[in-house]
Amino acid sequence: MPRKAAQKPKDKVKVPKRDSITIGNICVKAGERSTIDLPIARLYTHTEMNLPVHVVHGKKEGPVLFVCAAIHGDEINGVEIVRRLLKLKLLNNLRGTLIAIPIVNVYGFITRSRYLPDRRDLNRSFPGSYSGSLASYLARLFLDEIVAKCTHGIDIHSGSNHRNNLPQVRATIEDPEVERMANAFGAPVIVNARLRDNSLREAVIAMGIPMLVFEGGESLRFNEHAITVGLKGVISVMRELGMVPRKARKKAPHSVVVKATSWVRANKSGIIHSAVPLGSVVKKNQVIACIIDPIGDNEEKLLAPYEGIVIGCLNLPLVHKGDAIFLFASAESRQELEEISDMVLAENPINAE
Ligand SMILES: [Zn+2]
Repeated sequence: MPRKAAQKPKDKVKVPKRDSITIGNICVKAGERSTIDLPIARLYTHTEMNLPVHVVHGKKEGPVLFVCAAIHGDEINGVEIVRRLLKLKLLNNLRGTLIAIPIVNVYGFITRSRYLPDRRDLNRSFPGSYSGSLASYLARLFLDEIVAKCTHGIDIHSGSNHRNNLPQVRATIEDPEVERMANAFGAPVIVNARLRDNSLREAVIAMGIPMLVFEGGESLRFNEHAITVGLKGVISVMRELGMVPRKARKKAPHSVVVKATSWVRANKSGIIHSAVPLGSVVKKNQVIACIIDPIGDNEEKLLAPYEGIVIGCLNLPLVHKGDAIFLFASAESRQELEEISDMVLAENPINAE
């Protein structure tokens, strides 16, 4: 019998320890997590205002992803998405780093407002400056302390001003890495949206960092459908980027990239009775709402401008002529529109009743 050669003890390969990450002069070591309060500016009550940032710095090298919400202070669905994300055990073995900022516009959040105290819109104030308005200062601080340390980003929003949005990703899918993230997210709809001037997305893309926006639900309300799709989406992007293990045999839901979007506006002022809920597929010239006069029975019908799907709608039934009522999207085919609708139905039957 040939004798087995004695096995040499394996040389232990020394893996160099991952560098720590520093945010606001606070250092978080590899394998640790920490909440950092970045000082902004006091309220005039003398109360200190901080930007709360939670950092999960994995032991192993990997992407550095920021997930932020409430840049518009009244868009609270994202705050709940981030809260649920941070409770997941998956993060215990994170590869790379997650930087979670549940409330970027802390001033707007406490006053339940989209804006900063001077009515400035933070998402129109990037890249910002330390000598500018409070919005401009906060924008600059966010880019320098958070975004500059990241490789990828997700920004979470909701519909504004009584408008409810179907869960949707807005992204520049000409960038292959952004497209990869958008497809992995698995929201029913992807809107290949142009960059808004002075938005966070514009500033982040200009820094060469792939980022997408997720929109769902309406401001000042929790929408369980939007929260569920948003949370699943963030986790799916983290799986796609290799930050957490992929699920075997589990494919992300197929998103439809819509062709074009447009607002359908009120053709007169009045009280509106909507005929189609969010997620409905409608034919060209189908009646989608009636606008009535509170005194007489003067009734004006609102017709669908083309075959499409309702991806945003106004919940407040009082409108002025010209108000945006439905956000419409078209697709390559009727089949694609039905696919979106079926996906919405499967995830949230109430939505499609
Ligand atoms: Zn927003």
